[in-house]
Amino acid sequence: MEFISPAVIKSIAEKYDFQFKKGLGQNFLTSQEVLEEIADAAEIDGGGVLEIGPGFGVLTNELAKRAKKVVACEIDARLIPILSDTLSEYNNIKIINRDILKTDVRALIDEEFGGEKISIAANLPYYITTPIITGVIEARLPIKNFVVMVQKEVADRIGAKPGTKDYGALSVLCRFYTEPEIISVVPAGLFVPRPKVDSAVLRMRFRDKPAVETKDERMFFRVVKAAFSQRRKTLLNCLASNFQSSKDELRELLLSVGIEPTRRGETLTLSEFAAIADKL
Ligand code: SAM
Repeated sequence: MEFISPAVIKSIAEKYDFQFKKGLGQNFLTSQEVLEEIADAAEIDGGGVLEIGPGFGVLTNELAKRAKKVVACEIDARLIPILSDTLSEYNNIKIINRDILKTDVRALIDEEFGGEKISIAANLPYYITTPIITGVIEARLPIKNFVVMVQKEVADRIGAKPGTKDYGALSVLCRFYTEPEIISVVPAGLFVPRPKVDSAVLRMRFRDKPAVETKDERMFFRVVKAAFSQRRKTLLNCLASNFQSSKDELRELLLSVGIEPTRRGETLTLSEFAAIADKL
């Protein structure tokens, strides 16, 4: 595939008379530099990669140069013949015409990579960014790295630290299982068609074990969900509306782990959530 530029993307679209579908989040990347940056960030090192939404195959092309095998899952059947043309020079790519949200990704990784730890890379379709990220993280898949292009605002939420306005349940979930890192900010003008907002490349390296120890992960995430359920309420009130215990019991519990009951959920660190969950 040639060096990617806006002109190359437009000429592929013209050649195949391809009309972009907004409903499928089809904003294709036109920067060779950013494509290489995503592929490098995935730290593939000759291993396997799963790509979500290959589009015209511009990222797939960079991944295939660095990987033993790339499996790319694309929902739009119109793109399948285009991909077999644009990626014809490779024999280490498998394109699957499937909706990633309806795919058993664990079974796919087992089948295609024999359960080996792989990387996942994607310029994600905007309309399903959060379900894909939470789905991949919660599934505890055999992956070492998850590198995604997302709206900048989502990357800021995932990378947010306690006490900041962007910090929320998504930040806690991602930080619990991964080490999130914003690699770069990508201006809206580098996509065709141009989206309304800027994007960012985000890398989440999977941790060998969660960031904090907790007796019961489900209870940990119940506490997190409760703490962020009503942002203007105190932690005590949020917990009281989500758990059976009385307010007095919950106040005692919070004080016993050194947490002021009047604090807001968004100021709590992962260790503090774990301390509450373990007591509950
Ligand atoms: N990788 C290409 C690039 O970087 O230019 C295209 C990225 S574009 C933002 C998102 C791609 O995901 C599109 O090709 C779209 O058709 C595909 N897509 C959308 N929803 C999907 C789904 N549920 N499962 C798999 N692919 C999907």
